[in-house]
Amino acid sequence: MKKTLLALAVLVLALPALSAAAPAPQAQPPFDEFFLDKALRIDLYQSGDAKSETVTIHRISEEAIWPESKSGLLPPFDYGRYVYRVYDAASNRLIFSRGFDTMFAEYKTTSPALAGTVRVFERSLRLPLPKRPVLFVIEQRDKRSLLHPVFNQILDPSDYHVIREKPGQPDWVYEARITGDPHDKVDLVYLAEGYVAGDRDKFKADVDRMTDALFAIEPYKSLKDRFNVRGVFRASAERGMDEPRQRSYRKTVLNAAFNAFDLDRYMLIEEDHLMHDIAAEVPYDVLAVLVNSPRYGGGSIALDYCVTTVDHPASPQVFVHELGHSFAYLADEYYQSEVSYNDFYPKGVEPLEPNITALLDPGHVKWQDLLSPGIGVPTEYGKDRVETLQAGLRDGRAARGKALDAAKKRNAPEKEIRGIEAKFKAADDALGAKIAAVRAEYASLEDKVGVFEGAGYASKGLYRSMIYCLMINNPKNEFCRVCQRAIARMIDFVSGRS
Ligand SMILES: [Zn+2]
Repeated sequence: MKKTLLALAVLVLALPALSAAAPAPQAQPPFDEFFLDKALRIDLYQSGDAKSETVTIHRISEEAIWPESKSGLLPPFDYGRYVYRVYDAASNRLIFSRGFDTMFAEYKTTSPALAGTVRVFERSLRLPLPKRPVLFVIEQRDKRSLLHPVFNQILDPSDYHVIREKPGQPDWVYEARITGDPHDKVDLVYLAEGYVAGDRDKFKADVDRMTDALFAIEPYKSLKDRFNVRGVFRASAERGMDEPRQRSYRKTVLNAAFNAFDLDRYMLIEEDHLMHDIAAEVPYDVLAVLVNSPRYGGGSIALDYCVTTVDHPASPQVFVHELGHSFAYLADEYYQSEVSYNDFYPKGVEPLEPNITALLDPGHVKWQDLLSPGIGVPTEYGKDRVETLQAGLRDGRAARGKALDAAKKRNAPEKEIRGIEAKFKAADDALGAKIAAVRAEYASLEDKVGVFEGAGYASKGLYRSMIYCLMINNPKNEFCRVCQRAIARMIDFVSGRS
């Protein structure tokens, strides 16, 4: 494949100029004029460090199904740290585009990448099967979110190097919920990871349990009839997944592993090509990998897939949260976390995600039309006072530990130890009551849409729309209204309603 395509790539076509962050509304190209109702999957490697990056096409395959809508060839969103665009080679007309993220894009922000360690990651991209040769272009955002072309190649769909294999031994498919034609539905597909051959019924039950959890939450609840749900089961040799920090390694289909980027509870899958190859046995728009383990944790690559364990009590909530990233391009709204990316959201640049803002223009908030009447921008909610009190709590608990250790070391009598405990408990309770009192002062804000500081891993300078949301943590297990709308818009787009 590579040689032929490289030879063709010398054809020079005008590359698009730098595109600004907001795409202008574009007329949707007529599907049938440019595409057949099948898909072309491009398996890429991305390699490099924080500063350099090389994209290489590994393999191109034809897939029997184009499961996305035929009307949404150009998306209304401006999501993704990368965009791929497809131009009709004869007319140079833009006929397809999608934003995407990759594991490599995350790697670039880590310390090893900044120190110059080169790594390579996989990513599979898909487009409807073109009828004629196309120019395939990948653009990458710089720190100001401006797009620059980084890769281009002519693809000839009639090239005999395009792989047209059928799956040799189709895996077991569980059709959990079929509501209609894949073009007009969101096709949610679960893949089994770390289930042995005898675990097929367990996988089926896990698919149902996760789907029930998802469809109990808005906006999925109201829009559940827009979804088809399937599970694809390929048995692993062993149960579970890799846990490198525990020196535990399991032989599984997709090689899911914790300690992604050396973060303990972060699990990702590096075998992106194989994952898409298995998924392509059914129509899929949205991929969720279920990992047969009771451990807490999960992860996601935005606009690609999410992964979660299934047997921890919090697993359904982890799944819904991670799917928020991978399906609707939602940002994390939390800001106290072990996740400490360097430069994850550069200062002074508005994040692309719909649910957090840098508030660069307080007169025009990203979710202006959803703001509660009369709400302050930004919205004071006692954050600094609560955080000062929380710091006091932490200090008090550390001091208690020290005092108790010292007392035990000198074999202090039981009565004295109880006295120390009582003293610190009283201080602890008093601070706890003060925190509760500050929160009570602002309780009326809990159902309001405002602009609350603290989001996207940053305590200062980034804002979210409500105090609670499933993208931060929510005792009520709900998304904020901004996230709900972003998810509903994505459902509309994928199911061909927008
Ligand atoms: Zn939210």
